Amino acid sequence: MLKPYFIALLLFSIQAGIAQNDFQDIFSSNTKPLKENIRIEFQDSRNNQTFLPISILKGQREGPVFTIVAGVHGFEYPPIVGVQELLREIDVDSLTGTLIIIPIANTSSFFSRTSIVNPNDQVNLNGAFPGKSTGSVTQKIADFITTNIIPVSDIFLDIHGGGVNEDLIPFALFYDNPNYPQQTKKARELTEISGFEYIVSYPFTIRDDEPAKYVFKQASQNGKVALSFESGRLGNVQKDAVSLIKNGVYNMLDNMEMYDKGTGLNAYLIQLNNQTYISATETGLFYSHLKAGDSVKKGDNIGYITNEFGEKLNEYKAHSSGIILYKISTPPVNVDDTLMCISSSL
Ligand SMILES: [Zn+2]
Repeated sequence: MLKPYFIALLLFSIQAGIAQNDFQDIFSSNTKPLKENIRIEFQDSRNNQTFLPISILKGQREGPVFTIVAGVHGFEYPPIVGVQELLREIDVDSLTGTLIIIPIANTSSFFSRTSIVNPNDQVNLNGAFPGKSTGSVTQKIADFITTNIIPVSDIFLDIHGGGVNEDLIPFALFYDNPNYPQQTKKARELTEISGFEYIVSYPFTIRDDEPAKYVFKQASQNGKVALSFESGRLGNVQKDAVSLIKNGVYNMLDNMEMYDKGTGLNAYLIQLNNQTYISATETGLFYSHLKAGDSVKKGDNIGYITNEFGEKLNEYKAHSSGIILYKISTPPVNVDDTLMCISSSL
């Protein structure tokens, strides 16, 4: 009596597994070298639909699994364009190990030219981790990455740039995660050889049961070598920002002995580990004479906000000395927006 039920259950499980998990099938395939492009589709209870493109490149020889994600924010184009060029250039015959490349993590935001959130469910993917398998489409994408891609990755690189309203200087960053000293050490080493001049570490202070929110913080929480680049500004595709991203990836792959196309580290590194954020306390128009990369001293005026009649509401001062990593560079601001991030070395 048990047997038919058991067989039916087994068949059902196998079929459900195949339908859901193209990624696992290709990732665990013994065919090498291999390059496969897949789209994972998502639908939620409100009938929102979206998809996650994933390219899996397996080299002939065994080696680390290096994951690269672009387009968590669909309006940050240098990361997306840089990854497009990497996909065209990287030859799997010369690759050791595996590359998992997500060229545009938030396709709904990208194709609708929406800066931060997925317009389907109004959720910011950069804030949705670990995600939820029964949630909205963006929460499902986060859950898929957390449960399928992070666990099989050794190195996890999340690439961002300045959105349409953001000025920033390029930097490579990692979490200074005391729970995983070996991975943190490797993350520091990889950022230092990336070719970026500014190397920024963020403190990692969340508990294991707290939501990581950001994808590479999720990877750090799960004990992976977790890194990020910020390159490009104001929603444009700057050629030098794209090159910095590509060289950064090639330098890291070279360091991991996965691919031989590195250009070497930047001769002059600036290490920063102390970030302070100035938040808007009013909604209005923001004016500032400063740009990303400028140095400020504690107490300096950094700008002011007016209402829509041009009347000044508040002046803002720097709470610390340092260099402006990024700032809002277009007029509109809302309460609690980060006007700028000032970074220094403790
Ligand atoms: Zn971003």
